[in-house]
Amino acid sequence: MLDIISFIQTIGYVGIFLVVFVESGVIFGFFFPGDSLLFTAGFLASQGLMNIWVLICGTVVAAVLGVSVGYAFGLKVGPMIFKKEDSLFFHKDNLEHTKHFYDKYGKKAIILARFMPGVRTFAPILAGVGKMDYRSFISYNIIGGLLWGAGLPLAGYYLGNSIPNVDKYLLPIVLLIIFLSVLPTVVHILSEKQSRDKIRNFAKQIMDKRVKLLAFNWKMNPETLDEALKLAKNSDFKNAVVIPPFIFIEEVSKILKNARLGAQNVSGKNSAGGAMTGEISAAELVNLGVKYVIVGHSERRAMGETDELISQKLQNVLDNNLIPIFCVGESYGERKVGKEKDVVERQIHSALSILKLSAKNNQLIIAYEPVWAIGTGNNCSPEDALKMIKFIKNILNSTLSISNVRVLYGGSVNPQNIKDFLKYKEIDGVLVGGASLKPEGFYDII
Ligand code: PEP
Repeated sequence: MLDIISFIQTIGYVGIFLVVFVESGVIFGFFFPGDSLLFTAGFLASQGLMNIWVLICGTVVAAVLGVSVGYAFGLKVGPMIFKKEDSLFFHKDNLEHTKHFYDKYGKKAIILARFMPGVRTFAPILAGVGKMDYRSFISYNIIGGLLWGAGLPLAGYYLGNSIPNVDKYLLPIVLLIIFLSVLPTVVHILSEKQSRDKIRNFAKQIMDKRVKLLAFNWKMNPETLDEALKLAKNSDFKNAVVIPPFIFIEEVSKILKNARLGAQNVSGKNSAGGAMTGEISAAELVNLGVKYVIVGHSERRAMGETDELISQKLQNVLDNNLIPIFCVGESYGERKVGKEKDVVERQIHSALSILKLSAKNNQLIIAYEPVWAIGTGNNCSPEDALKMIKFIKNILNSTLSISNVRVLYGGSVNPQNIKDFLKYKEIDGVLVGGASLKPEGFYDII
């Protein structure tokens, strides 16, 4: 609280007017704290530290001028503004919210928006884009400027004069003002289904990151559809990804209520190159409801998949909004001579460095699967797995600038040893092969 008071005292009248001007109609001003600033300045005036009339006059003029500049800017750039790319200071979302606000309130939006942070800055710009009649614009602008620019300082001034020892309650009062001023914007945003969906997806992404993943790779099992359906039913827990052979995917998808669906492989080419006998495209998987795809499994590397092909598959998977579970890991011989880190680093670099990952890196999952531990019953020690997983996260962060990637451990995980891996916060889940055919053992474990 003291900070906002000393901030106001430092910036003085000119600073306040400048903040008000920028916040009222200059694109990058949308995050300025106008309401609390004006209220607190009014309070300071009540304590004799500022002159209330200078404050009000300057604020109203700055507010009206700022809005006019926003309007002129909107007139000049026109609908082009909707094509502008998002940046630190410009978010198309704010523009869209403001547009809906106009659709709802018409010209009155110019006045109402004054009291809504965020919307406040974009309202005059959109009035210009929509070529609002200048006379109505300027009248609404002046009314809004007077109500807001005089109202808030006067509220602070009035409270400062009428409540004894008000400085004791100033912090909660200012917090209440911030809350009340943000509330209409939040309500407005939440009233749009599209925004609610965005918030829900964002929360889901965060939750997904915290939940430990249990990926069940059935490999080339079972032999019949009946068995596959039974297995799917028994594997249908919340944080599981069920990864059956291709032929069962469609039927398994009808069974799963909680678990998500994965595929064990995908073509490196997209479906536009249809002459690819025996291949399955990422688009075909998407249409079956698949969300995850294993890429670069050591058993497929052993069949001849190169780093280059793996890279193409990863790109294809990401381009189709699927989540790759990208497998890396060293052979027994490589670990014996202490080369495990070199091997894994090479696999990651050769597959990821040529990808266009930027926007989608949060979808990537890596599975550290030492080849010697897969299907052998001879798992890597949880401490060694942890070491390698930390190493992988470090490479992603430091050399590829990719953060927030989930890294799983895979290699002879079973219901007896799974907790030893998952107790480490850095191990984000496990990829299970053989033991996934008896999923009952994993109930209630994660
Ligand atoms: C796998 O197939 O990725 C795997 C880890 O197999 P398993 O659990 O049988 O070692």
